Amino acid sequence: MARLACAWLAKEVSATDKRAEIVDVRAYIPVTGREGGDYHAQRTGHWIVDSLIANPMSVYPAYKESRTSWGIDALGGLIVEIETRSGATGVGISQGGVPGCFIVERHLSRFLLGSDPRDVERLWDQMWRSTLPYGRKGLAICAISAVDLALWDLCGKLRDEPVYRVLGGATKDRIPCYVTGPQPARYKALGFFGAKLPLPHGPADGHEGLMKNVALVAQARDEVGPDFDLMLDCYMALDVPYTIALAEAVRPYRVRWIEEPLIPDDYDGHARIKTACPWQHFTTGEHEYTRYGFRELISRRCVDILQPDLTWVGGVTEARKIAAMAAAYDIPVVPHGSGVFSSHFQMAFTNTPFQETLAMSPDGMDITPIFGNVFRGDPLPEGGFVRPPDRPGWGIELDHTQVRRGIPAGS
Ligand SMILES: [Mg+2]
Repeated sequence: MARLACAWLAKEVSATDKRAEIVDVRAYIPVTGREGGDYHAQRTGHWIVDSLIANPMSVYPAYKESRTSWGIDALGGLIVEIETRSGATGVGISQGGVPGCFIVERHLSRFLLGSDPRDVERLWDQMWRSTLPYGRKGLAICAISAVDLALWDLCGKLRDEPVYRVLGGATKDRIPCYVTGPQPARYKALGFFGAKLPLPHGPADGHEGLMKNVALVAQARDEVGPDFDLMLDCYMALDVPYTIALAEAVRPYRVRWIEEPLIPDDYDGHARIKTACPWQHFTTGEHEYTRYGFRELISRRCVDILQPDLTWVGGVTEARKIAAMAAAYDIPVVPHGSGVFSSHFQMAFTNTPFQETLAMSPDGMDITPIFGNVFRGDPLPEGGFVRPPDRPGWGIELDHTQVRRGIPAGS
């Protein structure tokens, strides 16, 4: 039976439409060294790196004040462009910088060159299996994600349809958005349905820090009134006892969910906080990878919303498997802020009800493109809603003046 399956696959590959054949794979980094797939790569003073935000390194006083001090932006952005014999190009993005470029051009490209970009399942499987010795999570899957997104761009262009139509079509007219950032009243005024606040203090700040966290939530609730959603983003900074204490302390202020309180590998801990606080919604997933990581979260029924990042989790090919698994358990999937890629994904599935957007202006007052200026045509929300472009593919264009090859061509 296995031999029959392989023979079938070989036949399909040999039937490649030569005009669609992949002839080049190029990996870029942003010329500025900022943005372009790594939204933490910002100038000094930006709220996302230089305001007090609890994180896994907050336990070390020397690295507490600024997240760039411990290298949250050390890798930088990764942009992948894939070209076919007909001259069509597809583009994808992730974090990964020069090491990501190396993986794409020196390893993954061997499976891509000569292939049909529409063979997304085989190509994903080959990239994933071949990187298992050093991959499984993190950088290798980020590199695969950027490639996968570029393949889906080509899928749309070759079929002359936006990606959401290739994926499954429209399930809604437009997508409601909430904002992650420090200015909830501003986001309410702009028409968004909710705001997610970065949590400033973690367990190392003790009871005083916990009370400051509660005061922040109380003040935000006071500013936005009772009918606007407030969420808390904990960026892997907490532990089980602190998460339970936080959930109980902010209960009077109706926090819709507490996000990513624990380190991603503590699946048992996620189950324990849900058991201890069944009335509180918990979410996680932005630092989880592939269907296997999400299977751990789904099977334990410990997470109320799954949040894969489409540019990190393995791209759309993997995210749609996660959405399918989650649908069988009535768990919504709301990707971590993945910009236009999120918009297409959330348009195409019924259990992807709304979208995260980030307030990327330095003061957190305005919504600007999450990938900076590397793309043209990246849509921004209007009045609290967003729609993916109806152009073929993702509907965005790479601005080549904003990127350069990560490793010298032909080296
Ligand atoms: Mg988050």
